[in-house]
Amino acid sequence: KKYVYFFANGVAEGKAEMKDILGGKGANLAEMTNLGIPVPPGFTISAEVCRYYYTHGHTYPEGLKEEVEAAMKRLEQVTGKGFGDPKRPLLVSVRSGAAISMPGMMDTILNLGLNDETVEGLAKMTNNPRFAYDAYRRFLQMFGDTALGIPRSKFENALEEMKKAKGVKFDVELDANDLKKLVEIFKNIYKEENKEFPQDVYKQLWLAIEAVIKSWMSERAVKYRQIHNIREDQMLGTAVNIVAMVFGNMGENSGTGVAFTRDPNTGEKKIYGEFLPNAQGEDVVAGIRTPLPISELERLMPQTYKELVEIMDKLERHYKDMQDIEFTIEEGKLYLLQTRSGKRTSRAAIKIAVDMVHEGLITKEEAVLRVKPEDVERVLHPRFDEKERAKATVIAKGLPASPGAATGKVIFDSHKAEELGRNGEMVILVRPETSPEDVGGMAFAQGILTSRGGMTSHAAVVARGMGKPAVVGAEMIEVKEEEGFFRVNNVVVKEGDWISIDGATGEVLLGKIPTIRPMGLEGEIAELLKWADEIRRLGVRANADIPRDADVARRFGAEGIGLCRTEHMFFEKDRIPKMRKMIVAKTKEEREKALNELLPLQKEDFKGLFRIMAGYPVTIRLIDPPLHEFLPQDDEQIEATARELGMSAKELKDIVESLKELNPMLGHRGCRLTITYPEIAIMQTKAIIGAAIELKKEENIDVIPEIMIPLVGHVNELVYMKKIIKEVADQMIKEAGVQIEYKIGTMIEVPRACVTADEIAKEAEFFSFGTNDLTQMTFAFSRDDIGKFLPEYLQKGILEHDPFKTLDYEGVGKLVEMATQKGKQARSNLKVGVCGEHGGDPRSIRFFHKAGLDYVSCSPYRVPIARLAAAQAAL
Ligand code: ADP
Ligand code: MG
Ligand code: MG
Repeated sequence: KKYVYFFANGVAEGKAEMKDILGGKGANLAEMTNLGIPVPPGFTISAEVCRYYYTHGHTYPEGLKEEVEAAMKRLEQVTGKGFGDPKRPLLVSVRSGAAISMPGMMDTILNLGLNDETVEGLAKMTNNPRFAYDAYRRFLQMFGDTALGIPRSKFENALEEMKKAKGVKFDVELDANDLKKLVEIFKNIYKEENKEFPQDVYKQLWLAIEAVIKSWMSERAVKYRQIHNIREDQMLGTAVNIVAMVFGNMGENSGTGVAFTRDPNTGEKKIYGEFLPNAQGEDVVAGIRTPLPISELERLMPQTYKELVEIMDKLERHYKDMQDIEFTIEEGKLYLLQTRSGKRTSRAAIKIAVDMVHEGLITKEEAVLRVKPEDVERVLHPRFDEKERAKATVIAKGLPASPGAATGKVIFDSHKAEELGRNGEMVILVRPETSPEDVGGMAFAQGILTSRGGMTSHAAVVARGMGKPAVVGAEMIEVKEEEGFFRVNNVVVKEGDWISIDGATGEVLLGKIPTIRPMGLEGEIAELLKWADEIRRLGVRANADIPRDADVARRFGAEGIGLCRTEHMFFEKDRIPKMRKMIVAKTKEEREKALNELLPLQKEDFKGLFRIMAGYPVTIRLIDPPLHEFLPQDDEQIEATARELGMSAKELKDIVESLKELNPMLGHRGCRLTITYPEIAIMQTKAIIGAAIELKKEENIDVIPEIMIPLVGHVNELVYMKKIIKEVADQMIKEAGVQIEYKIGTMIEVPRACVTADEIAKEAEFFSFGTNDLTQMTFAFSRDDIGKFLPEYLQKGILEHDPFKTLDYEGVGKLVEMATQKGKQARSNLKVGVCGEHGGDPRSIRFFHKAGLDYVSCSPYRVPIARLAAAQAAL
């Protein structure tokens, strides 16, 4: 079995595709060698050795020792130097490098092969004792720290003292004698620590190899993999690269640097990087001296700079991606020591992908695959003006529930927030926690701050759905809404005061910080998403209840509305009294009278939506929540409301009491409500069809209303409702004498509906999966109570994902798949979509694509993300 892969002088045994066993660094060193790019010679020990080491009680596979020694002999030959040779010593670096890039997380040792004899040889050979002792003290420091666990600070302190004693600021100002002394001091540190510095170079080598392998499991490497969701059980392991040293610390025409082929912040096509004269690689990262901008290299060594630019260009064209490189210049000669795909901001990722298509480097498909949905999400969030933010005071920190930056006046009451928001004022809704009644206020606030609740609390879920910045569970905040202020420690913030919240960090800041939010797509992102549209099969619609959201949705490319929740229209300030009148009505006539007052208002709502969605389908869900949500719950409010309604408080209280349910989510809601009170569905149908007729007649706007009946579990529920709706609608259309195409369909959100989807499809013209309720009912997880156990489920690995965020493929997904198949078999032109939170989740979208759905619907701000994810699913 082969464990060692050699590279030297334009020929390498490895190549870029071998990242799994050579790691990214090793594979790319081999690739660069094969490309004829100057790379110092060396070899890579396969990551399989690391895997073996951890599965075989910290031992190496048989034959490794011989292979490494043979490779060292070969390295001696190609360099003309000897490992441990006192006359012409060969020095090497021993470098980590895993398949996935984990910048700076693992260890590397430079200048290995130095000892008391070879350092003298190096001094003579280079005629540069200062350099030789600089290399030696660096080696003693890195080796002691990395291989033997001597605290790094011991060496650093000794170095600082030496500089102080000499009255100098920088390492480079120490001369050969100083460094020689420093070497002695460093050796004493080894003694103090009871550690032996091995003079035997092979001993050094094997200790270094083991140190690198051990760094794979170092605390920070493990943590990094956790944070980046790189699973430990994939056990990739690190390769070990042994590379002949080249020296950037040999004087003023030597140096070292790092560079990107494009600007990693903006994506702009220009070389971006830093350079340090007379230094070794780690100095740049360690920030010992401030590096110079790469443009300085052009001034100092124009020829070398030109060569560097050419190599970088070649690398980028070869890898077809922005590269992040390390280079070292040894007495004017340039060497590349590393290349990899450069990390970049979301903004840069999008620009680079699009630019590269224009440059003919990659295809549109590749560009679409290269940008991550999160990149799209990030560039669309409002951002603080960073300069202004830096001046503001952070007063509290909560959970970063929904990313984005928001600034506004503190308002505690949702109706008030809604009213002010409607009038264009910027408000932050501050509540202990939120409930469905607060949705209107949330919709018109810039952001939401709560003192209670977790990442899946109502506030968090709704805010994410709306694409609204939110900080939740900021426990140190004491909300005194009745008294009109909140308090954090001794800071009091009154209603009307300005605050700012950062939903990405959870920070709450005092004062008004200007934000910037894109209100549409332009430039590179618009272009990228147009390509995505050409590729995707899934349609993308938006969940929108009000014209403003519909407008945003259109700007972001939504092809219709997949879910308009009509109850939000009833929660508004001028409507809730009418709604309540309807609920407390004792007779059908009274109820109809109240409904008739709501009708014109709701019709206007639909007209607003339809106008914006002209020519596109709009799915309207009939009333869904249990009626108690529309009534006040505490005594004081009940009294006030009773006065408004002209009834006694006792009477109203009895009604509130009678509407209480033990399991409201499984109770009197959805179609069960309209089956008991068909008048409500009739009013809503009149509003929908009336709006469509008027728009057609008055403005010649074509509307495609899709009336959706929620919570159907048995086909007979649908049969009953459909008959009522159809009668009203057809009658109106006939009387109006216009042509209106409308559909009647159902939400599929009850497991029984999935199982009997073929029956239901005989009656329904479309399905829309309500995956939130479907998940709730399939798992029997109460959405509102999952905070008590879901975090633990995730942490203990019982569930891999939060099923309310990412569709549960194996359970809920199976139901979706089955219902889609059964439905389409029963009715071949059945339209099938999804309108739950999952409609905007890339991983779920992949599933919906495969399951053969026709479209997904998500919140307006997720539409661009869904467009990209749908295209990626199709590739
Ligand atoms: P990291 O992954 O932390 O960047 P590296 O293995 O790339 O670790 O090495 C750390 C620094 O040492 C880099 O700046 C690199 O360029 C430099 N370096 C590594 N090997 C050599 C070598 N053979 N000659 C000169 N410099 C080297
Ligand atoms: Mg590196
Ligand atoms: Mg539902």
